[in-house]
Amino acid sequence: MAPVTKQFDYIVIGGGSGGSGTARRASGWYGAKTAIIDAGVSGGTCVNVGCVPKKMTWNYASINETLEAGKHYGYKYGEVSHDYQSFVKKRHARIKVLNGAYESNWAKEGIELIHGTASFISKTELEIKPKDGSEAYRITAPHIAIATGGYPTKPEDIKGSEYGITSDEYFLIEHLPKKMVFVGAGYIAVELAGVMNAIGVETHLFIRGNTFLRKFDPMIQETMTKHYEEAGVIVHRNHPGIKEVIQLQAGVDETDPREKQLKIISNDGSELITNELLWAIGRSPETRGLGLDKIDIKLGPKGHIVVDKFQNSSVDSIYALGDVTGQAELTPVAIAAGRQLGNRLFGPPELKESHLNYELIPSVVFSHPEVGSTGLTEPEAIERYGKENIKIYHTKFSAMYYDVFPKEEKAKHPTEFKLVCLLPEEKIVGLHILGEGVGEMTQGFGVAVKMGATKKDFDSTVAIHPISYQVVKIMN
Ligand code: FAD
Ligand code: NDP
Repeated sequence: MAPVTKQFDYIVIGGGSGGSGTARRASGWYGAKTAIIDAGVSGGTCVNVGCVPKKMTWNYASINETLEAGKHYGYKYGEVSHDYQSFVKKRHARIKVLNGAYESNWAKEGIELIHGTASFISKTELEIKPKDGSEAYRITAPHIAIATGGYPTKPEDIKGSEYGITSDEYFLIEHLPKKMVFVGAGYIAVELAGVMNAIGVETHLFIRGNTFLRKFDPMIQETMTKHYEEAGVIVHRNHPGIKEVIQLQAGVDETDPREKQLKIISNDGSELITNELLWAIGRSPETRGLGLDKIDIKLGPKGHIVVDKFQNSSVDSIYALGDVTGQAELTPVAIAAGRQLGNRLFGPPELKESHLNYELIPSVVFSHPEVGSTGLTEPEAIERYGKENIKIYHTKFSAMYYDVFPKEEKAKHPTEFKLVCLLPEEKIVGLHILGEGVGEMTQGFGVAVKMGATKKDFDSTVAIHPISYQVVKIMN
C-alpha cells in the first residue's frame, strides 16, 4: 500500500467554489492545517467553465444588442464586425489570472494545494494520484470534506450523442458556427442559446415541454419563451426527443465547428442539419473514482451525497457541500455552505451550530433579458399556504430604454414583475422579475425578502426615478 506522507486537520477534495470557501475559512481564519486536492484547474466549474466565462460571453453578446439599440437612438454606422476569437483569447487570459489568484490566496492562508485525484481508502485516509504521474501516496485527516462538484450529463442512450458537446466544450469555441442546436430547458440551455442568438448564430432550442425554465414562476416561463421566439431563437416546443445524431462531417477541431455537420433525427422522423449541438439537460454529481464504496456513504436517487443541514454525510467526520450534494447548484451557495462548515468545525464554541439556511436564495438567469427570482413561485405558494391566503401583484410594461424603438419592436421587449404575498400582512414570499437590468436589482430585493419585507415595506420605500422598479410601488 502507498505510504502515508502527510497528516492534516482538514482535507478538502475539490478546489472549486465550495472547496475554496471551506478551506480558506478553516485555515485562513482558524489556523487548521488544511489541504485542498484538485484534479482539474483551480477555481473549479464557476471560474473555468461556468459563471465567469458565461457572464463574460453574456457581456459580449449584450454589447451586440446595445449596438442594435443604438440604431434606434439615431447612431449611424454600417455593418459592425466583431472578432469572437480575440474576445475568447482575452477571456481565457482573464481566467488564467483567476486561477492564479485562487492559488495565491490559498498559499497566503497556509493551505497546501495538491494537484491530483483523491479517492477514499477509509473514512480518514485518501489515496492521492498526482497529476504529474508520480507515485501515488496516502494522506490522512480526522475531517474530510467532499466538494467535487458535478459534470454535464450527456444522454448516453441516444445513438451518436457523443457528436454533441456540453457547456464544458462550449467555452473552447473560438470560431462561431452558423447554426447551433441546444437541447434542454434550464439555466444553461437558456443562457447559452440567448448568447448565441444575440451574436448572430442561427439558434435552435429543443425543449420537451411547451415552455422553458419550468422550475420558475409561470410568468417567467411564458413570457421568456415567447420573447426568445420574438428575438429570433427557433424554439422547438414539445420536442419529441432526439433519436439519433449522425456526423456528416467533422469540424476542424473543438475550437472551430464551422465545417462540422451533424444530422439530428428526431423521434417524429424530422431531420435537421446543424454545425453544432449542445446538450444542456442537467448536471450529475462528480463522485466517479472517489472510492465512495470504501466508506459506504449514503447517496440520493440521482447519486448526490446526502447531507443534513450541517453538511454532515451519513459517515461520521465526512462532509459534503456544493453541487455534489445537489442542493441549489449555485456558486454563492457552495461558498456559503463551505464557510459555515469551516466555522462549525474549527471556529469558536459559539459557532458550533453554524450552518447555511437554504431558504430564500435569490438567483438570476443571464438570459436576454435577465430573469431574477427569489422564494416561492405562485403555484408553490398556493400549494403551501392555500389560494385564499395568497395575493399576487403583477405588472407588465415596456421599459423607458425602448421608448425610441419602433412600436412593433418595443412590444417585443417585456419587463414583468410579480410579487407573491402571504396574507394577511402581505409578507413577500416570492419575487419574480424579468427585463432590462433586473440582474443587479435582484440582489437588493433578495435582502429585503430575506428580512421578511411586506408589500407595505416596498410601498413605503421611496422609489428611485426613473428606473423600472418604481412600477412595483404602484402595482396592484
Ligand atoms: P466545482 O466548482 O465544480 O468544483 C469541484 C472541483 O472538484 C473541481 O475543481 C474538480 O476538479 C475537483 N474534483 C472533482 N473530483 C475530484 C477528485 N476525485 N479529486 C480531486 N479533485 C476533484 N452559478 C452561479 O451562482 N451563477 C452563475 O452564473 C452560474 N453559471 C454557471 C454556468 C455554467 C455553464 C455552469 C456549468 C454552472 C454555472 N453555475 C453558476 C453553477 C456553479 O458553477 C456551481 O454551482 C459551482 O461551481 C459549484 O461549486 P462546487 O465547489 O460545488 O464544485
Ligand atoms: P437544469 O437542471 O437547470 O435544467 C436542465 C433542464 O433540461 C431540465 O430543467 C429539463 O427541463 C431539461 N431536460 C432534462 N432531461 C432532458 C432530456 N432528456 N431531454 C431534454 N431536456 C431535458 O440544468 P442545467 O444543466 O441548465 O444547469 C445546471 C445547474 O447549474 C442549474 O440548475 C443551476 O443551479 C446552475 N446554473 C446556474 C446558473 C445561474 O445562476 N445563472 C447558470 C447556469 C447553471 P424540462 O423538465 O422542462 O424538460
